[in-house]
Amino acid sequence: MSFCFGVSRARKSKSAKHTMDGQDSTDYCIFCDIARGATSTSILFSDEKVVAFPDINPSAFRHYLVIPVEHVPTVNSLEKKPEHYELVNHMLKVGEELLNRDAPNSVEHRFGFHQPPFNSINHLHLHCLALPFTPAWKQVKYTPLGRLGFIGANKVLEKLNPRPTLPS
Ligand SMILES: [Zn+2]
Ligand SMILES: [Zn+2]
Repeated sequence: MSFCFGVSRARKSKSAKHTMDGQDSTDYCIFCDIARGATSTSILFSDEKVVAFPDINPSAFRHYLVIPVEHVPTVNSLEKKPEHYELVNHMLKVGEELLNRDAPNSVEHRFGFHQPPFNSINHLHLHCLALPFTPAWKQVKYTPLGRLGFIGANKVLEKLNPRPTLPS
């Protein structure tokens, strides 16, 4: 089953065994390969922390993914500490800039994550969507439904913020 990224080699049933540098990993991770520049994926943006590229199976007018260079498995792996808050905040900023550049007239920009078990690839990835959805029914995959499924990036930031009074 490919839920939001159609790569059949993703083995979501196995837990990720990556170390930080992925050395003793026996599980193949396509996103680590992309972050390393080891694929032909066209990179929209990259710095020392994150890499952005188009979703190969786009669900909207523009549909980009922003991933951390470091292998973080899912949103559930994120902790309430400044380091993770800054990472997600940076991922969101990068996504916003790309959509502002490429889809300034879109009716809505939406940013969020799939919570396990509804994530397709066990390497954290922020979905950046410039609406409309194409086709329209795809919106069900990217609409928050309580504690399951899609969760908005701002919701994740709220949860991770070590100092909730901090201005965004
Ligand atoms: Zn996803
Ligand atoms: Zn990875």
